[in-house]
Amino acid sequence: MREKIVAGNWKMNKTFTEAEELMHQIADGLEQMEEDKVGVILCPPAIYLEMAIDISEESSFFVGAQNISEHESGAYTGEISAPMLASLNIDYCIIGHSERRKYFEENDELIGRKVAVAIHNNITPIYCCGEVLPERQAGNHLEVVKMQLEKAVFILPPSEFSNLIIAYEPVWAIGTGVNATPEQAQEMHAYIRRLIGAKYGQDIAHQMTILYGGSCNASNAGALFSQPDVDGGLIGGASLKAEEFLKIIQSV
Ligand code: PEP
Repeated sequence: MREKIVAGNWKMNKTFTEAEELMHQIADGLEQMEEDKVGVILCPPAIYLEMAIDISEESSFFVGAQNISEHESGAYTGEISAPMLASLNIDYCIIGHSERRKYFEENDELIGRKVAVAIHNNITPIYCCGEVLPERQAGNHLEVVKMQLEKAVFILPPSEFSNLIIAYEPVWAIGTGVNATPEQAQEMHAYIRRLIGAKYGQDIAHQMTILYGGSCNASNAGALFSQPDVDGGLIGGASLKAEEFLKIIQSV
């Protein structure tokens, strides 16, 4: 059975003490829940990763980074490499988020190199794809996501591709308060799974975790996660409040 996952993308939010408090609140909530059917991943800003690893040792959540360099080491001021993340025992990394594509001009080729370097260092990429609003309005959303997958991750051999988590995040839904409907999410997730099946075979397609992201909250998570091909969520804004995030985890 494929893994159900809820991951929180904190983006560039929280001071050190706020981050510490939120991590403890989530850890406490998870302990009370005794939730074992869903994997929980916290992706705080890089400066808090070490603290997150320390707190996770007493809890059941995993830790992910929000970005990674395509290079393994060297003169790249400000960057953080895959071996550095691996040396902190970071298990996951968000790669290809629409904010990195938009504000940092990351394209599918660069994203593909980041995915590869993460996998080679035993870090599971949470690979994000999704269309912008004009592409959805023009009815091109399936084609756009297909192209993103083909350029960035369908270049991987099966043994590496099967290490990925995919997050479908329609860009028009991120941070807007307008989520994809459960039907829209299911249409895309089933399509992605069909593409994976055609490329890598049914076994890999069936075991692949495909998350939904975009204005997912405690009110709409249940309906989204009840879709057969939606295996959990990548949560932005709603992951910054422990109570809301814990409710989303319970909706899986
Ligand atoms: C995200 O940034 O990955 C995201 C899903 O954001 P939000 O939940 O705030 O729409």
